[in-house]
Amino acid sequence: MKDQYDVVIVGAGPAGSIAAKNIAQKGLDVLLIEKRQEIGDPVRCAEGVGKLHLRQHIEPDPRWICADVKGSRIFSPDGTKVEMAEEVSGGEVGYVLERKLFDRALANEAACAGADVMVKTRATGLIIEDDFVCGVKVMYLGVESNIRCKIVIGADGVESKIGRWAGIDTSLKPSDIETCAQYLVAGIEVDQDYCVFYLGNEIAPAGYIWIFPKGKNQANVGIGILGSKSGKKRAVTLLTDFVNKNMPEGKIIEMVVGGVPVCGTIERTIANGLMLIGDAARQSDPITGGGIINAMDAAKMAAEIAVKAIAAGDVSTNMLKEYERKWHSTLGHEINNSLIVKEAFTNFTDEELNSLAYSLKDANFTSMSLLDLLYALFKANKKLLWDLRVLFKDVLINEIDFKREFKDNV
Ligand SMILES: Cc1cc2nc3c(=O)[nH]c(=O)nc-3n(C[C@H](O)[C@H](O)[C@H](O)COP(=O)(O)OP(=O)(O)OC[C@H]3O[C@@H](n4cnc5c(N)ncnc54)[C@H](O)[C@@H]3O)c2cc1C
Repeated sequence: MKDQYDVVIVGAGPAGSIAAKNIAQKGLDVLLIEKRQEIGDPVRCAEGVGKLHLRQHIEPDPRWICADVKGSRIFSPDGTKVEMAEEVSGGEVGYVLERKLFDRALANEAACAGADVMVKTRATGLIIEDDFVCGVKVMYLGVESNIRCKIVIGADGVESKIGRWAGIDTSLKPSDIETCAQYLVAGIEVDQDYCVFYLGNEIAPAGYIWIFPKGKNQANVGIGILGSKSGKKRAVTLLTDFVNKNMPEGKIIEMVVGGVPVCGTIERTIANGLMLIGDAARQSDPITGGGIINAMDAAKMAAEIAVKAIAAGDVSTNMLKEYERKWHSTLGHEINNSLIVKEAFTNFTDEELNSLAYSLKDANFTSMSLLDLLYALFKANKKLLWDLRVLFKDVLINEIDFKREFKDNV
């Protein structure tokens, strides 16, 4: 085992592997460590990703794609259906992945680019000298050792400790975490072309139930609810009720529980010699809980700045803050807009959800961005949008184009 690298990355999820690949491609010495013995396993994910974004990081491979979906169907509490499909969005939609294989494919690309990869290697602490992070303490096969480096990248997921060890506050309150449970259900008839969502405070308080097709009469059927809004109701109980009622013939062949950060952006994601990316930096989308693409996008930005900082011989926060500025002004902007909508959404009554769905059921979406959704809502139901104006005001202010359309149409 080498004890010196340019960069050590903790965690071989999508964030860690993309960062490792991009840094290794620039000729730097990189180590990617993963505490589990098998990268990608166990999976804690519904495995849905947007196609176009994915392609910016890896060429899709049928070996890790279970379904190529053409749209989404959303059912409000009274059963009103809103459909967003490829034909109306005019663009490509998404894949349902086999994440066990996907995460391994990403790690394989990092290795092929020249990164060293070590599994069953757990980070147990940071080496900090003169206020600079300059390495990682690791445990491999029961033996502790120190690995020194110029930059540590924390890609250690939702339960991240790397940030905390460096003095960064990444703590999450119950209202900041979506509690999720998911079954892989076999032996059911599922439309393989659509991801389906069910809303309603009875079935999923301040959240939703999803059905993502996985091919061969299988689907990921899951639920995400806000701990702060669900009282005594448990995600797994609500999910079991839904499956028993709607898929009595289904057989549960896998179960997943986990949390998704839905807190919006956190301020600090760097320290001297340290960067956080992906779920460790709380970069998942507060509405959908989706974090794979955001993790990969942030990883690419972090990699670029890490390479620059090392070349300049300056890994201080002063140099690394360009990463923070970059991700806050791109990803962060989208995450904060989503947070505003999430906060509105989690306070909707079932009647309001029905009314929203009814307004949107015949809407003609030109794409599937949040703004298109709001614009369609505006066109379909001006009164409802007016009622919601306080909630959506910040989103509107953020988006000049939408604001212009909004003004022109009032
Ligand atoms: C039920 C559920 C459903 C979801 N569905 C979707 C979805 O459909 N689409 C989507 O985009 N996102 C979804 N997400 C979110 C998505 O899974 C995450 O956002 C994504 O995995 C984040 O990637 P990451 O690389 O930051 O972290 P992770 O994928 O969590 O990877 C972190 C890695 O770090 C390792 N690690 C942790 N600590 C250490 C340590 N001390 N030393 C070494 N290694 C360590 C872990 O073992 C892990 O492999 C879902 C999440 C849940 C819980």
